[in-house]
Amino acid sequence: MSLVSPSVDSVALSRLDALAAEQGIALTVDAPLAPLTTLRVGGPADRLATPGDRDELLTVLQIARQAGVPCLVIGNASDLVVADAGVRGLVVRNRSRSVVISDDELIADSGVPLALLVKRCTAAGLSGLEFGISIPGTLGGAVWANAGAHGGEMRDLVVAVDAWDPASDRVMTYDTAACRFGYRESRFKHGDEVILAARLRLGRDDPAAIGARVTADHAARAATQPLADQNAGSVFRNPPGDHAGRLIDAAGLKGMRVGTASVSTVHANFIVTERVGRAADVRALGDRVRAAVRERFGIELQYEIEFVGEWPAAEEAP
Ligand SMILES: Cc1cc2nc3c(=O)[nH]c(=O)nc-3n(C[C@H](O)[C@H](O)[C@H](O)COP(=O)(O)OP(=O)(O)OC[C@H]3O[C@@H](n4cnc5c(N)ncnc54)[C@H](O)[C@@H]3O)c2cc1C
Repeated sequence: MSLVSPSVDSVALSRLDALAAEQGIALTVDAPLAPLTTLRVGGPADRLATPGDRDELLTVLQIARQAGVPCLVIGNASDLVVADAGVRGLVVRNRSRSVVISDDELIADSGVPLALLVKRCTAAGLSGLEFGISIPGTLGGAVWANAGAHGGEMRDLVVAVDAWDPASDRVMTYDTAACRFGYRESRFKHGDEVILAARLRLGRDDPAAIGARVTADHAARAATQPLADQNAGSVFRNPPGDHAGRLIDAAGLKGMRVGTASVSTVHANFIVTERVGRAADVRALGDRVRAAVRERFGIELQYEIEFVGEWPAAEEAP
């Protein structure tokens, strides 16, 4: 669920505050978002809620709906560029984290970090999610994006997804086909539904063998990506038959800088920020990289990172 530049009236926010107080839900006013993201840029949210379980998440979503306040659900914010002006309305930082394993399946809340799921799977001798060690997001964010790495992706494992539909205020269950997964694509990118939980089917293997693959995947990443720097993963999707990083590198753009943001010298498809960075610099640099690749190769790169919040009109989120 995302929002771009809606206006929120103070009456709606007051309604939300009152409903939250009635339900015993803590809201932070003008909550800084940059420290909650991996890129560490962006301004505050009008209100921030951090539900710790699925019931609380659902209640928060329902009171926002009732109050008429727009709502942005985030997981680990590892795919996000939050605007410098911040996000109007409510940001919900999803921390619902229940995990149930039974035979070769697991059912987990959408706020569970993938790395934690990988750990649980390894201990239980369940294979298939090893690739998730390289993706610093939550299960909800990973299903939303059909995240993938090392040749695996979420659609290989997802059997069913529970999602809350704000239009009907109902919880729907979608099977794999209904999720409409594609390359970094799912139905959830094209609507307002909030993923509550997912059921994954895994294979069986020796925990030591699974652990060895997890370690190898992690080592491969550490050697090729700027993991010590602030970043939000791959900036652009790979165009068909090529790699965005190869094109950016071949255009000579590694190290290119706009203000506090620069193209990583370790991996060209990463933008890294200084300790105190600006979202506008990230956006301007991304647009310059896109223009340079277009000019040089005639290829229009598409953003994979997600721009959220209140962007100036000239910089509206793509
Ligand atoms: C170092 C690094 C490496 C990365 N490597 C990879 C990689 O190999 N492969 C890959 O695919 N990605 C990669 N990423 C990107 C990112 O980690 C993934 O896209 C991840 O799935 C995002 O999950 P998140 O919880 O952080 O989502 P967020 O960034 O918090 O949110 C991303 C989007 O998902 C939506 N969303 C989040 N939770 C829900 C929910 N419960 N219901 C509905 N919508 C929701 C948000 O509204 C937002 O629009 C990398 C990022 C970093 C920083």
